Amino acid sequence: ASLFGAIDMAPRDPILGITEAFNADTNPAKINLGVGVYYDDGGKVPLLQCVQKAEAKLIEQLSPRTYLPIEGLAAYDKAVQELVFGAGSAVIQEKRAVTVQALGGTGALKIGADFLKRFSPNSEVFISDPSWENHRALFESAGFIVNNYTYYDAQTHGVNFEGMLDSLRKMDAGSIVLLHACCHNPTGADLTQEQWGQVIEAVKQGGLIPFLDMAYQGFGAGIAEDGAVVGRFVDAGGPLLVSNSFSKSFSLYGERVGALSVVASSADEAARLLSQLKRVVRTNYSSPPTHSGKVVAMVLSTPELRQLWEDELAGMRVRIKQMREALVEKLAQKAPGRDFAFVREQVGMFSYSGLTKEQVGKLREESIYAVDTGRICVAALNSKNIDLVVDAIAKVL
Ligand code: PLP
Repeated sequence: ASLFGAIDMAPRDPILGITEAFNADTNPAKINLGVGVYYDDGGKVPLLQCVQKAEAKLIEQLSPRTYLPIEGLAAYDKAVQELVFGAGSAVIQEKRAVTVQALGGTGALKIGADFLKRFSPNSEVFISDPSWENHRALFESAGFIVNNYTYYDAQTHGVNFEGMLDSLRKMDAGSIVLLHACCHNPTGADLTQEQWGQVIEAVKQGGLIPFLDMAYQGFGAGIAEDGAVVGRFVDAGGPLLVSNSFSKSFSLYGERVGALSVVASSADEAARLLSQLKRVVRTNYSSPPTHSGKVVAMVLSTPELRQLWEDELAGMRVRIKQMREALVEKLAQKAPGRDFAFVREQVGMFSYSGLTKEQVGKLREESIYAVDTGRICVAALNSKNIDLVVDAIAKVL
């Protein structure tokens, strides 16, 4: 018998499964709301101007492709650290934060997970109910037991905050709690600033290890506004891990560019910690790729490119908000019996629309694809397809 003869088929990724079904659909008017990608109003994944300009400069420079340091390009790590913690912040000046370039947000989470498994092996991990579908698998594959904490309330379409606090207060000291810094995926339901204060307090009181996943910085209220929660955790003291991604905010999905930052209690501790993070990277893929790190570093640290990026990101953020607004208004006309006003309050690329699995199935008969949970990607709506979507939703309700 063959060595691999007894291997079972792995379960299909639910979201990629939707894409496959979408690709196989021959209806020219088909719409895919199942994705986790920002599309512009023309239905295209944008290639940002700031990226094009940085790439043009890089091509002129014709640099050889030597290995990067294990922790990544120094200029990248510095620029990202300043973005994540704020330029000139005390934690940077005191050299208590370390930042390593990573293969997207997923790569950053994986480095963090492997690192934590070495230095806090008996901790259990808690993720929101629900969460990005890869969180559980990723931490389990690093060897952790993964639990849920209470988060979404389907009745209110918002956060069950009392339930969340209750979950946090019941966790054992040393538990790792994974929090979405902004633009919660999949629900679109975020904490208020006041609620974050209470979460930070509970994390501190409970001796928990916070791990902030920031995959959508700039898609909520703004770059600084969305990132402010990081500074609040730093100010509260204690350990902190932050994964961030430029997949969405730079529209560089396939370039795999992100970072993991860890806050230590002293510069000396940070130096030891960095040496261990490098070991994790070294034994996984040795060092990150050059191109995307150079692009992002150049954009973040060149004033006119930085301004262009901030403007382009603001454009994406505003367009999503306009689509939320349009969806709510149009549904109010076409489906007056149902209140979708909550879609306006949700933040980021996604909306838990409240559609049931059956309704999502009926939408599919109209060639409109969404996730079974009712998650729709608001960033896949545009001025040309929104009426089709609204009519179809009104029909299946
Ligand atoms: N974390 C969350 C919450 C996400 O939604 C995503 C991507 O969809 C990621 C992490 C991974 O980001 P990346 O594509 O950069 O690996």
